[in-house]
Amino acid sequence: MKKDLLEILCCPTCKGSLDIKISKEEKAEIIEGILKCKICNCNYTIKDGIPNLLPK
Ligand SMILES: [Zn+2]
Repeated sequence: MKKDLLEILCCPTCKGSLDIKISKEEKAEIIEGILKCKICNCNYTIKDGIPNLLPK
């Protein structure tokens, strides 16, 4: 996913804003990492460039 996408993504559970921890990136693309909600502390993984934003 593009880094810019982070600005429009929000937590699917509480609509809070997300922090990102990048573990692998190429150019402006995030390949692997973790999105973490600042409000409810849910974690969502990014794998193969695709954020898995399913509510738990
Ligand atoms: Zn949340």
